[in-house]
Amino acid sequence: MLDKKLQAYKKKERISQDTPAKYKDEFPFLKEVDCFALCNVQLQLEKAFRDHFRNRKQFKLPKFKKKRDKQSYTTNNTHNSIRVDFAKGLLYLPKIRDGISIELHRTFDGKIKSVTVSRTNDGKYYASILVETGNPRNKVVEPKSKACGIDLGLGHFAAVTNDFGSYKVEHPKYLRRGEERLKRLQKSFSKKQKGSKNSEKARLRLARQHAYISNARNDFLHKLSKAIIDENQVVVVEDINVKGLLKTRLAKSIADSGWSKFLTYLKYKAEWYGRTFIQVDRFFPSSKLCHRCGYKNEDLALNDRTWCCPACGETHDRDVNASINLYLVGLGRPEVKPVEQALVDDRSPYGLPKKPPCDETGSSTEKC
Ligand SMILES: [Zn+2]
Repeated sequence: MLDKKLQAYKKKERISQDTPAKYKDEFPFLKEVDCFALCNVQLQLEKAFRDHFRNRKQFKLPKFKKKRDKQSYTTNNTHNSIRVDFAKGLLYLPKIRDGISIELHRTFDGKIKSVTVSRTNDGKYYASILVETGNPRNKVVEPKSKACGIDLGLGHFAAVTNDFGSYKVEHPKYLRRGEERLKRLQKSFSKKQKGSKNSEKARLRLARQHAYISNARNDFLHKLSKAIIDENQVVVVEDINVKGLLKTRLAKSIADSGWSKFLTYLKYKAEWYGRTFIQVDRFFPSSKLCHRCGYKNEDLALNDRTWCCPACGETHDRDVNASINLYLVGLGRPEVKPVEQALVDDRSPYGLPKKPPCDETGSSTEKC
């Protein structure tokens, strides 16, 4: 069907509406699957073309999939053709007489609408079941902390500040180790002769490792975002320009650390659990502001990990300071007026104890 449409498209002919049933004689394997599976493919194909004609820039022309990429099919439930036997761990699908033994992640009640069965490129099969249920709400926990500021870092994953203080979240060790193994497997795959048996084996090992890392990372991001949403009522993050940063040198570590995914998870979880999610303006200088006195350090370079405030003498860890500033935004504190030049200021806007300025005596300058 795709081939026919593409050919018509090339010849600038009208693209005809096609049904999969026509092809059953030519390709007898089409008779093995249920009609919903075929029908869904037709609908998806038509949608792909519709999208393309509506917005050619965003939606490219549909193309053929590689056989070894992810494969999937979707089928709909009619007259109980799809059932799950929770006790026996069996999934019943149309046209398959015996139940398929599955590993269940959770039970559910409600009416099954459809199932998508997919095979990932590491050779594993998954069934994703769409269920209509009356009350999809998860249990909501009372927040312990009023607000929380999160600064996404490079060396570590994030610096977090809430009512109870600040802490840094490191990248999980298993992810680091997994990435090292991934590099080795990539190297070994590229050395194998293309199309050989050993190359296929290496490809499978590589695909499995990719799947492992992506699952492990998602698990980490889901658990962290859930914990943060459970604990805090207001969550403040920077509006980092992920797309822009991806074009720079920092690209690899950003792509690896899954920042944009993390922000997406925080956002929708905040909605689910009735929390407030704030992304501050991209130009809010969260790293440059002293959280104690509001002095703005214009000279702060990207690789300065710590800095000393010339106005109040406080030594800052760059990321922790940024997360505190975001936390203060979450508390709705009046916006800090940036101090343009270094001066000794007695005001302490957040009621924090004042420290002696560090540039007055020679001994404390060394500390900075
Ligand atoms: Zn200061």
